[in-house]
Amino acid sequence: MQFADLVADYERLEATSKRLEMREILVGLLRKVPPLELPALVYMMQGELRPEFEGVELGVADSLAARAVAQATGASEKAVSESLRSTGDLGSTTELLLPKRAGRLDTEPLRVEEVYAALERIARASGAGSQDLKIRILVELLARSSPAEAKYAVRFVLGKLRLGVREMTIVDALSFAFADGSKEARGQVEAAYNRSSDLGLVAEHVATGGVHGVEKIHIQVGRPIRPMLAERSPDLSDVLRRMDGRAALEYKYDGLRVQGHVPAEGPVQLFSRRLESISTQFPELVKELPKALRHRPAIVEGECVPVDPETDELRPFQEVSRRRGRKYDLERLQEEVPVRLFLFDVLLDHEGPTVDKPFPERRRALEALVHDSERVRLATQRIVDSEPEAEKFFDEAISAGCEGVMAKSLSEGSTYRAGARGFWWIKYKREYTHALADSIDGVVVGAFYGHGRRGGRYGALLLAVYDSDEDRFETFCKVGSGFDDATLEALPSKLKPFEVPEKPESVFTELKPDVWFRPAVVLEVRGAELTLSPIHRAGVGKIRPDAGLALRFPRFTGRWREDKDAENATTTAELISLYRSQVRQISAGGSSDEAT
Ligand code: ATP
Repeated sequence: MQFADLVADYERLEATSKRLEMREILVGLLRKVPPLELPALVYMMQGELRPEFEGVELGVADSLAARAVAQATGASEKAVSESLRSTGDLGSTTELLLPKRAGRLDTEPLRVEEVYAALERIARASGAGSQDLKIRILVELLARSSPAEAKYAVRFVLGKLRLGVREMTIVDALSFAFADGSKEARGQVEAAYNRSSDLGLVAEHVATGGVHGVEKIHIQVGRPIRPMLAERSPDLSDVLRRMDGRAALEYKYDGLRVQGHVPAEGPVQLFSRRLESISTQFPELVKELPKALRHRPAIVEGECVPVDPETDELRPFQEVSRRRGRKYDLERLQEEVPVRLFLFDVLLDHEGPTVDKPFPERRRALEALVHDSERVRLATQRIVDSEPEAEKFFDEAISAGCEGVMAKSLSEGSTYRAGARGFWWIKYKREYTHALADSIDGVVVGAFYGHGRRGGRYGALLLAVYDSDEDRFETFCKVGSGFDDATLEALPSKLKPFEVPEKPESVFTELKPDVWFRPAVVLEVRGAELTLSPIHRAGVGKIRPDAGLALRFPRFTGRWREDKDAENATTTAELISLYRSQVRQISAGGSSDEAT
């Protein structure tokens, strides 16, 4: 396929925010290429060269790319940076400057495979002289590109392709392109993606074997599985009722979720909740995990929590977040912030995948697999069948420094549901015991300039929750409290990469902040209560016509949810259920009228 054809579709995709239109464009595109070339195409739609969990990076900084653009276009570096100031995007600058260059070096049209190969070479270049090599490859690529092709090549190299195509839109398109597009077909394609986290692989299988083709995609060590997620519940009696009177309760540790992949031989890999590789950040776990397992291979899941080695007590979550994303000082941090991994599930053991077994069997397999060590333990669990027992266990969990309990279904259907949120797991946190709502993970979509002491800085951020049905971000509060001075100072530069000139199509609000952001950054807020609001749009019309939900007295907890991307933020549906449970609690307490 010619790169020009792909670029034409990129342009059409960029011009629309309508999901159906996107799907149509994608379906056409997917059908154009032979199955073997599909993986590369699918990764390229997402601005990647390989599935995200492999962490392949092109390693080209803005300044380096700008130099390449100057060389390829023949413009001076000054002209490039001046143009960049007005366009705000090096891709558009390249497109503008390129026609001024005399004659094409090569008249052969560029093929997608060639572009992919060039990008791969850029990614592979490392060590001494690699910067020059990266520039050279990029210049050669741009020299063969048309202005529109060059625009996208540059954006790609900088990791700023941003076509707005979400994973689930690609899943949808695959089920239409190579199957009948039915709910079942989509479900099977999605399930294969949830098991493999690799859309390229799924694309190749569905293109060659239809929906049955994806059945061949199995869980595999080294390929993260999209995590199973929990619903929440307002009280323990509701938890027990939903689980038919009997459930496994576990401590709900407050740390980082870790999926540990232990191959039969070779090094262990650790993945975060977002499926990024975090092995280098926890070298002691990489070393100790295989020693704590009686067999390998294995895929296990647990929560990584900071502990005080003197007292053996759990420490606050914030400490472990200091170790995320660090490249240096790892040895020192290992000593300063010692962690322990509490394992709560097993997805594969030496006998094969365990995901299709009910939870009690998986727990037995986990107990047979793990022997407690200094850094690796089993999550504390108790089977309960009465509310007093459940409450007692909850109190124990809180006094052990946990944030609550996780209830897990013991039913036949309690298999590991990759990528799904359901009532097989229910989280119940301490805050639910008060009328106060749980914390909410909001996506930053805008900022308002501050006044007075905060003049010249941001005074408040506009936050949204994610509506997965509508695929949009609906605002629910403006938050200005809870930021310390250093955080306030750093906010503009932290958010700068996500700034966009206009309200993104996917944002739904009546408010007009001074600055708009592409939904990407997630932070945790708490508030006094959820109320109905005429200006916020979260869940609008779901409770009362024309009213959305708003969080009263929101306050930043100090926790950036770097482990979540925008779609993993609190959802509109969760906000509505929090509102309803709050209404129930208030009315049970007799202190307020039911607001619905
Ligand atoms: P979610 O993961 O549901 O989107 P979240 O990231 O805000 O939300 P929580 O609301 O804190 O997380 O609850 C779920 C998380 O609790 C899990 O993803 C996992 O990281 C953590 N967790 C702690 N202990 C356990 C346990 N025993 N079993 C399962 N998960 C646990």
